[in-house]
Amino acid sequence: MFRRFSTFSFKLFSPLQLAFAMTLTAVTAFGQAGPSKPAQTKAQARPGVKRSNITRPSVILITIDTLRADHVGCYGAQTVKTPTLDALAHQGVVFERAISQVPLTWPSHAVILTGTYPFQNGVQDFTGQPLAQQFRSVAQAFRQAGYATGAVVSAFVLDRSWGLARGFDFYDDAFSAETFAKKDIGLVDRRAGESVAHAIAWLKKTPRRPFFFWLHLYDPHSPYDPPEPYRTEYHSHLYDGEIAYADHELGNLMSWLKQNHLYDSSLIVALSDHGESLGEHGEDEHGFFLYNATVHVPLIVKPPAGSGIDAGRRREPVETTAVAPTLLQLAGVKDSSDSIHSISAQFQSRSLLGTSQETSQTAKDPAYSETFYPFSSFGWSPLHALESERLNPEHCRRATSHRCRASGKDAGTPGPQSLHPSKFSCWEPESRRAGEITHSRLLWLSCRSLS
Ligand SMILES: [Zn+2]
Repeated sequence: MFRRFSTFSFKLFSPLQLAFAMTLTAVTAFGQAGPSKPAQTKAQARPGVKRSNITRPSVILITIDTLRADHVGCYGAQTVKTPTLDALAHQGVVFERAISQVPLTWPSHAVILTGTYPFQNGVQDFTGQPLAQQFRSVAQAFRQAGYATGAVVSAFVLDRSWGLARGFDFYDDAFSAETFAKKDIGLVDRRAGESVAHAIAWLKKTPRRPFFFWLHLYDPHSPYDPPEPYRTEYHSHLYDGEIAYADHELGNLMSWLKQNHLYDSSLIVALSDHGESLGEHGEDEHGFFLYNATVHVPLIVKPPAGSGIDAGRRREPVETTAVAPTLLQLAGVKDSSDSIHSISAQFQSRSLLGTSQETSQTAKDPAYSETFYPFSSFGWSPLHALESERLNPEHCRRATSHRCRASGKDAGTPGPQSLHPSKFSCWEPESRRAGEITHSRLLWLSCRSLS
């Protein structure tokens, strides 16, 4: 069985990063209920934002770590209760075939917040470099448009030193020294209850509207240790217990938004960064392979009231690179940076949905995934995959007869544009409906490591 090693060890961190972590432990007020880092006052001084006399909606991005789609009620799960996500789905658009571009936390969140592929932004593994400065975050675009911007993350793997805090007035990534002392640094996290409390505290302290807020919950990530009563109720499948717990705590945030008349008017997008293999294909967790278990993620978009977008379900494969363009388009925000540095110049996908005033655009096809974790940590081949509605079973059968041959030279890092059947190594019919293969995934090995 392939079990992921602990995601981090001290040797992977630069002295600067370690020093910063130690600084965080020193400045954290242990056990406090509210956020530990104040918002910047400069952003608070900006005026409210209106577009053509229409007040822009606030925007809430929710990422629930390690949540595979088929363990969510609105995606067909029967063994776990997810009423909060199900309610969001009932009022929004459910993307049934959302595909993560990389099944690793930090690289996947870099994709979500920048709208770029891992092979473009360079964040292909957690052992790599921080996000380069030239890549603009959707938070920067919102802040430049006058939004208050805040984030609460629940794991040290999203520490600000990696570069995703850019654009946020407030970025809550402080964990207690006690937590650092007890755990491997890669497992430092906090429960959803604490993170949601921090989120609500920031929202209360930030009356200026509109706002862009990102909440990251880490509970479904291993080790699976949900609190009671979820530990007892889900004792035979604790992973689901973590999901049910996270969903319950997320429900507290939704209730607060409703009580403060912010729910209906806000754009809310919920998704996961990747799934969890749970023993499928010989993998316990995530990162090694690109099968359905780890790259098929839930993605739900609840548009703001008055958007003209109907609730429903979409079946075509979509990428998480489309999340950032969707957030901006549905909020009516155009990045006002010069054209060279505008975030739209780096986007690799169009918005998943359009407002009634704007042209609705369909997602592109196919959906790409990659993982360099087996290469960078074990010297095995990197993996790449495509999922498409257009690949038929015969095409896939032909592809299985070809394998990437050792070329003895570096073939580079292929993107979707460089696909060639000779690189396909296997295929997986990922979804069957009434005996019909509706989507197929091709996986191929890069020639890079097969010399
Ligand atoms: Zn993750």
